[in-house]
Amino acid sequence: MTVTVLGTASPAPLPDRPCSGYLLRAGERSVWVDAGFGTLAALRAHADPAALDAVWISHLHADHCADLAAAFYALRYGGLAAAGPIPVYAPAGLARRLAGFFGRPDTAFLENTFSFHDLHDGHRVRLGDLELTSHAVVHDVPAYALRARHDGRTLAYSGDSAPCPQLADAARGADLFLCEADHDAPPPGEERAHLTPEEAAAAAAEAGAARLVLTHTGPSLTPERAAARAGAALGHPVAHAREGETLRV
Ligand SMILES: [Zn+2]
Repeated sequence: MTVTVLGTASPAPLPDRPCSGYLLRAGERSVWVDAGFGTLAALRAHADPAALDAVWISHLHADHCADLAAAFYALRYGGLAAAGPIPVYAPAGLARRLAGFFGRPDTAFLENTFSFHDLHDGHRVRLGDLELTSHAVVHDVPAYALRARHDGRTLAYSGDSAPCPQLADAARGADLFLCEADHDAPPPGEERAHLTPEEAAAAAAEAGAARLVLTHTGPSLTPERAAARAGAALGHPVAHAREGETLRV
């Protein structure tokens, strides 16, 4: 199983740095995990979107799902030919939002391109030997961490999450834990919605994850600084995700 980093930026894309998106590959299967701004173009450098087995959206913030509109254009009008509708696993309401982009009150016109499946906590999807499981985490909208298992290996991906015990459950014993570190420091007076690098490190330690890779660092952090802080907290080096790299799980 591998995960190719398409984008890590938060909250808006930068040159050569799209927002959240990853290409998960396991055996013959490929899944686009989060479709943040700019990630369709990055995905096309690595895979044919029409050949995806599924799309998995952690939550409905635009920096994690807006490029599904771009994917709809590519698949419907852009000359790509999928064998059938591509399954999209996402929190409820994504089809309606996408339809809104086209000024349509209905969602039926999307169904030749995407088939939407509403995620719930503990949702399990099997694509051949690849098993995907959702874990509800704490964010300011319904949000799910992803646990992917294939051939005895486990990838965990936080999506966006505040510190919460469910995050460590999602990453329990993972071989690779791809975790957000959006916040430089907890914002005063606000409900928590993201992690600091130290909180990402604490979640990885609590989970007993073998390897932590930080992603989705916010505008007041650099990926390098976030990784250094998490590494200091754990007492060993921590990497950060880099656009275009493929991580072996
Ligand atoms: Zn979010």
